[in-house]
Amino acid sequence: MSECLLCKQGMKESLRFVDILLFKKMEAQVCLSCRAAFVPKTEEACPSCSKSGSSEVCQDCRYWEKLGLSVDHKSLYDYTDEMAAYFNQYKFQGDYLLRKVFAKELKLYLSAYSDYTLVPIPLGPKRLAERGFNQVEGILEAAGLTYQPLLGKMDTQRQSEKSRKERLEAEQFFYLLEEKPLPEKIILIDDIYTTGASIQLAKRILMKNGKKRIKSFSIAR
Ligand SMILES: [Zn+2]
Ligand SMILES: [Zn+2]
Repeated sequence: MSECLLCKQGMKESLRFVDILLFKKMEAQVCLSCRAAFVPKTEEACPSCSKSGSSEVCQDCRYWEKLGLSVDHKSLYDYTDEMAAYFNQYKFQGDYLLRKVFAKELKLYLSAYSDYTLVPIPLGPKRLAERGFNQVEGILEAAGLTYQPLLGKMDTQRQSEKSRKERLEAEQFFYLLEEKPLPEKIILIDDIYTTGASIQLAKRILMKNGKKRIKSFSIAR
């Protein structure tokens, strides 16, 4: 009997034989009750960024559009208390096994974009040294997905300590790791999407180096 990564309870093998055949290398990592606490996105979400609540384009996206910036973002889950607790345990308590929790969903979703290059949002050097790993790269590796770390990030103040206005006015803190031609189609991958400021900055640096098709993705929004 395997153990749930989140509540550490033993899990009964509840998979049907066909599931075992399909996902034999990706057995369940989380028990059904922990899994059920996460809220998957529904149709009631912003078509541009997956913000839940309404199927109209949300205020955050309209804000970016007014600045002439497009949003093409998809998230799989709502950013609920349970999701916050998950990321806290994974990122700040450093429980690296938790990178596997959303591996299956991630692989399934991104398999539709096999012609895109996956580019994880980087951490600044200080944060990376504190944490010991990039949480986005961890999740991609757990899903068996290949990615290209094209971006670097300078150390900055914690985003949450800044107001949104300050964030938007903040200077660019991403940079290209190498001066080389970029892939034409890119999906920027992040863990959590808040207002979209980080994604817009990362997108800007890629766009400056050639007009590309850039989508973005996060586990939670
Ligand atoms: Zn559990
Ligand atoms: Zn939106």
